[in-house]
Amino acid sequence: MCGIFGIYARNGYNAAPEILGALNALQHRGQDSAGIVTFDQTFQLIKGKGLVNDLIKGQKFTESVGAVGLGHVRYSTMGTPSEINAQPFIVNYPMGIAMVHNGNVTNFNELRKSVREINHRLVMSANDVELILYALAAELETKNLFALTADDVFDAVATTQNRIEGAYSALAIIADVGFLAFNDPHGIRPVVMGRKLTDAGPVYAFASETTCFDYLSFEFMRDLAPGEVIFIDKHHQVHSRILTAKPQHFCIFEYIYFAREDSIIHSRSVAHERSRMGQLLAQEVRRRNLSPDVVIDVPSSAFFFAEALANAINVPYARGLAKNNFFGRSFIQPTIEMRQNTVRQKLNPIRRIISGKKVAVVDDSIVRGTTSKHIVHLLREAGAREVYFISASPPIKYPCVYGIDMSDKTQLIASAYSEAEIANLIGADEVIYQKIEDLISLYPKEFACYACFNGDYPTKISIEGLQAVAKERLDSNIQFISQSI
Ligand code: SF4
Repeated sequence: MCGIFGIYARNGYNAAPEILGALNALQHRGQDSAGIVTFDQTFQLIKGKGLVNDLIKGQKFTESVGAVGLGHVRYSTMGTPSEINAQPFIVNYPMGIAMVHNGNVTNFNELRKSVREINHRLVMSANDVELILYALAAELETKNLFALTADDVFDAVATTQNRIEGAYSALAIIADVGFLAFNDPHGIRPVVMGRKLTDAGPVYAFASETTCFDYLSFEFMRDLAPGEVIFIDKHHQVHSRILTAKPQHFCIFEYIYFAREDSIIHSRSVAHERSRMGQLLAQEVRRRNLSPDVVIDVPSSAFFFAEALANAINVPYARGLAKNNFFGRSFIQPTIEMRQNTVRQKLNPIRRIISGKKVAVVDDSIVRGTTSKHIVHLLREAGAREVYFISASPPIKYPCVYGIDMSDKTQLIASAYSEAEIANLIGADEVIYQKIEDLISLYPKEFACYACFNGDYPTKISIEGLQAVAKERLDSNIQFISQSI
């Protein structure tokens, strides 16, 4: 999972400050690296490891001119978190193209081979955006570059989409030609389009989530449809086509965990969706005849689940865990050791809320179980009489191959253990998961991807493919650890 942002304005506009502002608002989507590219006669690229603020330090953004630009925050699922894999990526022919993307290409090895053998391009990084970029460049190269038309661009994207398997939302600048936004035929990863009216004409922006639009005063226009391609030409005419659409399978984890609660995706407020999921959790708490004294959340993505659950069962909600906000999200740290260390330093129970109580603690999910176990331990140390661990997501039993760090089945606790066994392993009195059928009642299978819960993958993926993605992830971690030593 990554955060992407792109802006297309008329000459004279300064895109860089808005890209940086957007990336700050999207920082929760990735903390491994950040990058920005603007275009004015030539591309100006700044990227590196770390947070957006790390990128800003020591860089002369006043020199980063251009009315057009892209930004990216990266959370590595393919390739190491090293600088070579940081986005955006650029190719200088044809025209000059810069690209950012969010997602995961599942036929990475096959595509790398065909890009090498058919298109004669050497892939230098382990980042799948490089493959998408080269595939698109190779298709554009076959057109009349003296008079590239919107039809040519759509045709090149359609062929690119047909070569790629997996999840991808991509934004690209084609130098002196226009701006491009497209996503995979199932619309697995989100892309939203916004607009700001200025005296010089409309400025268009595209992003992973709407939260950055609020901050930058962009009006939200709409989400991209599955397989949709939007091309804005050099005369600022907006062209849109759906070239290779398939049934939608939007990643349900965007609502559960990834997106910020103030975002609106597919016309749904993320905060409101979390409240609806919290109400569903209440049914299971009642069915089990549990009567907690207090409901607390694991900050900060679980607040709306917990608040709605507490209201529905008529039990007080309280903030029972204090969070140190200066530590990154544990789930998107690249190694288990880093995640455990982060959790230790990040959360501290508020003893007055917890001591002597039966505590229902709500989290967005239980992935490996290590964070959950640590939280239960902290609550017991703070004097909790009983601890009920409640997960807003159903049991995660299958790997995600679409850009979320859950690609190794052996690391998913629910793939090997029952609910009762997990309660025992993490030290909780009870573990309650969201029922998958309840989630489907909110988001029908015609809309959402449920592959990590039921193994029903929306794209072509073989056992070998799953193993290759898991191995790639494992290798990335090993390389990263050896680089860090
Ligand atoms: Fe999202 Fe799970 Fe589907 Fe991955 S498998 S895209 S995490 S719903």
